Amino acid sequence: MENTCDILIVGAGVVGCALARELSRYSASIAVLDRGSDAAEGASKANSGIVHAGYDAVPGSLKAKYNVEGANMFPTLCETLGVPYSPCGALVVGFSEEDRGTLDVLLDRGLQNGVPGMRIISGDEARDLEPNLNPAVTCALLVSTSGIVSPYELTFALADDAALNGVSFHFDVSVSAVKPLPVGGYLVKTSRGDWHCRLFINCAGASSADLHNQLCPGVPLKITHRRGQYYLLDRPKEAPFSRTIFQCPSAMGKGVLVSPTAHGNVLLGPSAEDIDDPLDTAVTQSGLDSVMDRVRLTLPGLSIRTNITNFSGLRAHEEGGDFVIGPVPGCPGAYETVGIESPGLSSAPAIARALSARIAEAESLSPKKICVPYKKPLRPFREMTPEEQQEAIVKDPRYGTIICRCEVITEAEIVAAAHRPVPARSIDAVKRRTRAGMGRGQGGFCSPRVADILSRETGIPLLDITKNGGESYLLTGTLTEPAERRNQA
Ligand SMILES: Cc1cc2nc3c(=O)[nH]c(=O)nc-3n(C[C@H](O)[C@H](O)[C@H](O)COP(=O)(O)OP(=O)(O)OC[C@H]3O[C@@H](n4cnc5c(N)ncnc54)[C@H](O)[C@@H]3O)c2cc1C
Repeated sequence: MENTCDILIVGAGVVGCALARELSRYSASIAVLDRGSDAAEGASKANSGIVHAGYDAVPGSLKAKYNVEGANMFPTLCETLGVPYSPCGALVVGFSEEDRGTLDVLLDRGLQNGVPGMRIISGDEARDLEPNLNPAVTCALLVSTSGIVSPYELTFALADDAALNGVSFHFDVSVSAVKPLPVGGYLVKTSRGDWHCRLFINCAGASSADLHNQLCPGVPLKITHRRGQYYLLDRPKEAPFSRTIFQCPSAMGKGVLVSPTAHGNVLLGPSAEDIDDPLDTAVTQSGLDSVMDRVRLTLPGLSIRTNITNFSGLRAHEEGGDFVIGPVPGCPGAYETVGIESPGLSSAPAIARALSARIAEAESLSPKKICVPYKKPLRPFREMTPEEQQEAIVKDPRYGTIICRCEVITEAEIVAAAHRPVPARSIDAVKRRTRAGMGRGQGGFCSPRVADILSRETGIPLLDITKNGGESYLLTGTLTEPAERRNQA
């Protein structure tokens, strides 16, 4: 089978989806291909969710430029898209004279990068702000413009807005090769047939260097996969801290942090370890132990008894240390975003805005006369007042059926997730769009009921509903059609 489009984007992470959304404002047929079963299946679903203020990146680098520009865009963007975001602020804590020197460097970089609202404070001032901090903290950089966001909900909203404006998304499609055609444009080989496109855009995260090297072997890029592991704790009755608290950064990254999440959970991590396999998101005892060693330094009294899950994500670290963004050298009509490690989430809106403008100008794309306005997802039932909940149930009785008890998610919200522009097609896809299964029960009670609703709403047979795409089936058969059915399929 052969498919054609004007613009083909590889990768439905936060960068690919933000770019698809920006380009959907121009008259062109656009397709996004991803080897995952949903958007945000790579680094964009498994990161710290921090909207960094921009004091860490080296002045003059693309990281510094896009981080600061992107962070400025977050409040309005998240408001427009209805994505959870909170400007909670941050502290970078120091324990020694050497750390104090590092904080001075960060402050200076921040000033050069144009980050407002930063100052160095004493250990006592830091403990006034965050009373559970280690008494050994001697100094801290207070950053008022740092925030937190739900990274996968941002990615879904960007994808939905792009889809509303005509972008088609194709999941479970792995791109294996890309070749320029003598007549112009590109031939893209995938696990599900070939594609022809006029413009090719590589936003393939962990695999972005591989695609770059196929097009541009003379100027090769190299990505190291740097895994970061986390603890996610249940929502505490009393928050042990209110800001994101970092330790001083090292050559391996921004260091281990403790942070509230955009939904009020407690996040601890990430570790940093270089690995070979770009898909290996395992968690290991040694990785988690290394996280706790650092966390205890920041907050000695923090208990992890309420840990509800662990996960890991892979940073795409390019050898040059900076983002690589723009036209692929020597390949007319090909563009790329390579090595988008942290602060890639914070930078994504600005990367997409700048790259789409550059592509539109170079490729003479015409803006559409009319764009479809984005409709925010319904307000979560659990955030409504009792009166609003009553009203919602009267309008749609499916609000009256609680499916996920831990997170208080109703049938109406799961139905809505199955009918979004980029719809949920698996248990995890529902979980990330609605939070059903995100709580301390981790889907133990609600998964079968979510599967039932998903099957009813999408027409996917119940036996074919997966946890997370691929072969991750939940059911092997029914009592009348026993397990062999799945084995023979
Ligand atoms: C542990 C960790 C913590 C982080 N913390 C932060 C933070 O707090 N703040 C911040 O700003 N940034 C943070 N980041 C960085 C941020 O997560 C990334 O920069 C961002 O998610 C990158 O988005 P992306 O779209 O480039 O890549 P991805 O989200 O990885 O998307 C790439 C997509 O391409 C697809 N793909 C790859 N190869 C192929 C192929 N051959 N065919 C088809 N599809 C393909 C993948 O399935 C994937 O969906 C963190 C990253 C990690 C790993």
